[in-house]
Amino acid sequence: MSRFLSDKYRLLRPYVPGEQPRDFKYIKLNTNESPYPPSPRVISALSGEEAALLRLYSDPEAKALKSAVAARFGVSEREVFVGNGSDEVLAFCFSAFCGEREICYPDITYGFYEIFCGLYGLKVNKVPLKDDFTVEPEDYADCGKNIVIANPNAPTGLALKVKEVEKIAASNPDGVVIIDEAYVDFGAESCVELTKRYDNLIVVQTFSKSRQLAGGRVGFALANEQLIADLELMKYSFNPYNVNRLSQIAAKAAIEDEEYFGECRSKIIEARDYASGRLKEAGFELTDSKANFLFCKKEGFSGGKLYSELKARGILVRHFDKPRIDDYVRVTVGSMRDMETFVNAAKQITGR
Ligand SMILES: *Cc1c(COP(=O)(O)O)cnc(C)c1O
Repeated sequence: MSRFLSDKYRLLRPYVPGEQPRDFKYIKLNTNESPYPPSPRVISALSGEEAALLRLYSDPEAKALKSAVAARFGVSEREVFVGNGSDEVLAFCFSAFCGEREICYPDITYGFYEIFCGLYGLKVNKVPLKDDFTVEPEDYADCGKNIVIANPNAPTGLALKVKEVEKIAASNPDGVVIIDEAYVDFGAESCVELTKRYDNLIVVQTFSKSRQLAGGRVGFALANEQLIADLELMKYSFNPYNVNRLSQIAAKAAIEDEEYFGECRSKIIEARDYASGRLKEAGFELTDSKANFLFCKKEGFSGGKLYSELKARGILVRHFDKPRIDDYVRVTVGSMRDMETFVNAAKQITGR
């Protein structure tokens, strides 16, 4: 740290991403990427001609991409915001709406929310999940604050129903409710339709998990025109060309290939259900994950130890050294073959 860093950032603790080894030696089940490549339509859209156009700035309005997203969700282009990954979209949400009001979110959730609050100096109210890790919607009803909920939640994989989210949005008309649907495509209900009826609701999604474009860095928000205009204000005050040319093209092609999206999603759900069945037979406890990861533990076996023993066998998973969840590991659902290897190793390590 230099002596020039602002005092207000001296205690900032940044997000620690999952390991990204460069040598491809591991079965990588630690950052919830897809085991499948992007749609063939993405690959062919990224031509040499498009690369040559990199001398020009990207479209700051991302018109073609927004229009494809709008068509997919049955909303207007003015109800779509696109960002450099949904992390950026979330950052704009936090900075735009959470200055004065306190923001609340579950005590166990996506780690970046806390980082944004530190970065923007926001007041936080963490609401404990219930013992079974579910979100209690009543805890957020009528709370008079801004709210952010990952649905399905990370790293538990548990999801609220649309009806429950609706109750939260309806009972907090003066607070912004941000629903982070990074994992929604793997079996949960999306709240996009609610954005037409609630002017305080923002749904955030990403191309990283279910559309195999984590490295393309594209995320988006769907909400009413006024909220989207506020996000545009943030963006044009920070980085007008936030989504690069190639990523706009890739994301547009990805969202237009509904068939490939559906195939990959089904394969992942199938592999998740297969792995969770086998882990249960072997005495593991798992949450009912609606995401592309499993959250599991073995009674009497520490999560940290399971993580390192798996790593020693060439399998990377994620362990969170945090209260309430340090017995668990989070395991990205890969191909059927990856899951087979993981389950066999986990059983061997924990002694069955
Ligand atoms: C992965 C993830 C994101 C961020 O995804 P991007 O790659 O930045 O689009 C946001 N929220 C949750 C809950 C996630 O797991």
